[in-house]
Amino acid sequence: MARRKDSSDPLAEYNSKRDFTRTAEPAGEAGEAGSRIFMVQKHDATRLHYDLRLEKDGVLKSWAVTKGPSLDPDDKRLAVQTEDHPMSYATFEGTIPKAEYGGGTVMLWDRGTWKPIEGKSENDLDEGHLHFCLDGERMKGEWLLVRMKRRKGEKRDNWLLRKLDDEHKGSSEGLTGRYLTSVETGRTMEEIAEGAEPAGGNNETESHRPLPKYESPQLATLADAVPPGDDWLHEMKYDGYRALVAAADGEVRIFTRNGKDWTEKFPAVVHAVTAAGLGTALLDGELVVLDEDGRPSFQGLQQALDGSKAAENVVYFAFDLLRQGGRDLKSQTNAERKARLAALIPQNFGALRYSDHVLGKGEALFDAMCEQGLEGIISKRADAPYRGKRSRNWLKVKCTRRQDFVIVGWSKSSKAGRPFASLLLAQHDDGDLVYRGKVGTGFDQERWRTSQAKCAGWSERPHRWTCRRAPGRGRSGSPPSWLRKSPSRN
Ligand code: MN
Repeated sequence: MARRKDSSDPLAEYNSKRDFTRTAEPAGEAGEAGSRIFMVQKHDATRLHYDLRLEKDGVLKSWAVTKGPSLDPDDKRLAVQTEDHPMSYATFEGTIPKAEYGGGTVMLWDRGTWKPIEGKSENDLDEGHLHFCLDGERMKGEWLLVRMKRRKGEKRDNWLLRKLDDEHKGSSEGLTGRYLTSVETGRTMEEIAEGAEPAGGNNETESHRPLPKYESPQLATLADAVPPGDDWLHEMKYDGYRALVAAADGEVRIFTRNGKDWTEKFPAVVHAVTAAGLGTALLDGELVVLDEDGRPSFQGLQQALDGSKAAENVVYFAFDLLRQGGRDLKSQTNAERKARLAALIPQNFGALRYSDHVLGKGEALFDAMCEQGLEGIISKRADAPYRGKRSRNWLKVKCTRRQDFVIVGWSKSSKAGRPFASLLLAQHDDGDLVYRGKVGTGFDQERWRTSQAKCAGWSERPHRWTCRRAPGRGRSGSPPSWLRKSPSRN
């Protein structure tokens, strides 16, 4: 056990500041030294800050990081040292009455363990600098705390907190902009303030909530370039079918983007969602079939729907959460909704997956996606609410090597035995189907037979072919007279 610097009660200041008959915070008692835990509590008091607490000598050494930790090694964040807190404070989350010291909302924002870098000592803290390593749920890698010289009249020691350059570095907003819910309860600050039930899970009130109804999904606008900056989060664009999944009390419904009930078609997804015990929730995402390399295969998905391949291969990638536990989340920011979704969906859960994102650095993700022959990315404004329509808050940026067309017809061939001379292609553009021209193909008889069935007019089932754009053939010819608007996939 590490020796204390003096024999006086290290928690005297903590205790003297609080009236424990009025605040829900725990009274201070020194604990055992040994393992070193750390936690960060997001604290909306007079001014919003993040309280970093490191266990040392049986108490929690504490700093109020005014702007919160940054993953950018160029950012030095002011960390004002505050009184040592008791070990029992480690799990505190809730509200402190307004009139009391630190009155406001406290969220348990991160937790884990810490240690000094090899060769360094935790007692370096007493000398005014600490080079340490965090292993939290959100904060990881090497960090540095350096005490500044106290200026005249300053009652507190001001320190600077800085991320050191390692594989866990990132953007300024990489932590505070990304993680907006409690690591313990999944609640937002607003919900903690309201005293809301912990998010997710099945409990008494949950089990009587009705199944959420279909809502029209938000659609993305096609863009030429990835938007720059940390205001955008970027997800992989899946080559599948858009679908909403509603869950409540062991009941699951899968809706197409137009609200058609496709529950029966995807038993593996229904099973996974049921088993995940999401409580009452409405998810937005994409139904995908992965090929042997783990890449989304649209052809594989069509085969699953045709029945020529088992529907067990279909996986649902959830990328948004519209409702949870009876609450409408659409007015919350995208980043908040994704943080809740990430907390809600268990990891490695078979046919139900969480579609992760990167914040900023969209160009790098885009290049990586294109390199792997994937469709592209979807960029979403991190601070935007969910709207059930197309907008520029969601942008789809496609890898240019591929273009998606809908076959809207074909032209007859004069040659015997050749079913058609060329295919007439169109593309969806802002909800309209726009004729793009014709293209000659090398279809075999089998392909022809199946395509005939699908292309002889509009079927209710949305379908699509991916064709390489033939040079010089785009936008030529005139559209067939029967071409009209049709509901279809994104
Ligand atoms: Mn505080």
